[in-house]
Amino acid sequence: MKTVKVNVVTPDGPVYEADVEMVSAKAQNGELGILPGHIPMVAPLQVGAVRFKNGSNTDLVAVSGGFLEVRPDQVTILAQAAETPARIDVERAKSAKMRAEQRLQAKQDNVDFKRAELALKRAINRLNVTENRY
Ligand code: ATP
Repeated sequence: MKTVKVNVVTPDGPVYEADVEMVSAKAQNGELGILPGHIPMVAPLQVGAVRFKNGSNTDLVAVSGGFLEVRPDQVTILAQAAETPARIDVERAKSAKMRAEQRLQAKQDNVDFKRAELALKRAINRLNVTENRY
């Protein structure tokens, strides 16, 4: 099977690097499946799990938005934050989820709902990735 080189990069450095047969990601306008030889493009991503398939193995990376760039020989995901399952602190994600839920439930004017909603999405995504759900 043909493969393509993939990299997930954040401001803190590289998070994941591999040669894979397929990349699946949630772009802003729908699910994307990238195979080797895909035409060059750039797509903004949703908060979600990116899947990297190679043979019978699938690796998941929790990605907090950002962009996916396809070049002829390489797929790059550039995001503000991204974690492999092993790097995710489950207790931290659970606390972040609870904080965000409380903020969303609070009937206060000073709550930034958009920000709380995004924090909730990031936390749920991290928990899903640690449980191999996507
Ligand atoms: P928190 O409120 O717990 O900081 P957050 O969603 O606001 O969560 P981000 O702003 O997305 O956090 O990320 C800040 C940095 O912390 C990034 O480097 C990200 O990879 C890391 N990070 C956030 N949550 C976790 C987690 N549960 N486990 C491991 N790393 C995390």
